[in-house]
Amino acid sequence: MAEDGEPKGKEYVLEADAELRFEVENKNENVILTLKSGYAEIFGTELVRGKAYSFKTGAKIAVFTWQGCTLELGGECDCYIAKETPMMFYLNCHACLEQLRMKAENESDVKRGPITMIVGPSDVGKSTVCRILLNYAVRMGRTPVFVDLDVGQGAISIPGAIGALLVERPAAIGEGFSEQAPLVYNFGHTGIQKNTQLMNVLVGRLAEVVHERLQANKKANVSGVIINTCGWVKNDGYRLLKHAARAFEVDVVLVLDQEKLYNELSRDMPQFVKVVLLPKSGGVVERSKAYRAEARDDRIRHYFYGNKTPLHPHSFDVKWSDLKIYKIGAPPLPDSCMPLGMKAEDNMTKLVSVQPGPNLLHHILALSFAASPEDDIITSNIAGYICVTNVDVENQTLTVLSPQPRPLPDTVLLLCDLQFMDSH
Ligand code: ADP
Repeated sequence: MAEDGEPKGKEYVLEADAELRFEVENKNENVILTLKSGYAEIFGTELVRGKAYSFKTGAKIAVFTWQGCTLELGGECDCYIAKETPMMFYLNCHACLEQLRMKAENESDVKRGPITMIVGPSDVGKSTVCRILLNYAVRMGRTPVFVDLDVGQGAISIPGAIGALLVERPAAIGEGFSEQAPLVYNFGHTGIQKNTQLMNVLVGRLAEVVHERLQANKKANVSGVIINTCGWVKNDGYRLLKHAARAFEVDVVLVLDQEKLYNELSRDMPQFVKVVLLPKSGGVVERSKAYRAEARDDRIRHYFYGNKTPLHPHSFDVKWSDLKIYKIGAPPLPDSCMPLGMKAEDNMTKLVSVQPGPNLLHHILALSFAASPEDDIITSNIAGYICVTNVDVENQTLTVLSPQPRPLPDTVLLLCDLQFMDSH
């Protein structure tokens, strides 16, 4: 026991270029990590010596050290030290991107910093590599833009959204990048196969706006963009990757762990795009369907209630008659039933009015910046999300959970496939 009566954790001594990997599996477990000496980082964020970092159930972490360090770990978890890591490859990528940034800064014929897209199947560490590259860029004084196109396990806003974020500080350990004023577009589903046409439109629009914003921010323009993608890399998923690469005008594609995808992209990308194959880390953990669903729920809970800094969402009633609710995409019809000149797939980006009723219970609604259905709703970004926690048919009202107090802004609401059971 330590002097203050707290049980002391176990000590681990790491050599240079090694990492301590741990996974918190037990329910309601809290694992405490402290850097005792030396230097260490978690996915590119440096640890402060002597500070206690806590990790909850579900955390899958690697504490890496370039110089060697001593760590203390308290609480129940599965852990081991790995000496083989791909961190040197990732650092090399960062160094190459940094050179391109310096060129953009110093040479008049280079207009902007590198636009990098990270691709690969599920569970190869794409999000982690994005985080490492963004953190390293910020630690060099850069302010890159982070784009997340992963609607299933993305890191911006809630699942079902795609978006962009200006990164000015390293990610907080256990939390992620600070989300002040993200640019968010609503897709509404957690799998892109649900509506690839809509996804194409949204990716195109997001790319357009990101380019506009880069034009207006010289420092971000020099720093470039890091794009995370989803793990569906076959058929329509592959076509979507190519579309995203074109829309964002990528310069570099980092392919994690799949030679087939690397070969296809090397063949299909224009000559000036550098396609690089990178190994995945042996530490990346495969996530089960149940774990993914739980992680999505956690993100929504985090959106409304906060994580380490608690938020206090509002709950209030709204009248059905005051709401303009729509969804995007009508049920598919055969081409033969479509009006002349229209294809069935045009239906997938059609705006359909939704009558409020019990069908809305537990659903997430996106608050569009578009004020009326006459505006271009699909390509309007999202101000935020609310959740329907009760439907009162008799009084024709909905109870909603909202980050903002009443009243709701008088804008269009978009119905998402996504549901959330508020257990608070
Ligand atoms: P992808 O984006 O390809 O689906 P992620 O980057 O989200 O994969 O990684 C999957 C999981 O593995 C995450 O929970 C992440 O924290 C964990 N992870 C990544 N790298 C390591 C590592 N080196 N050691 C332990 N866990 C890791």
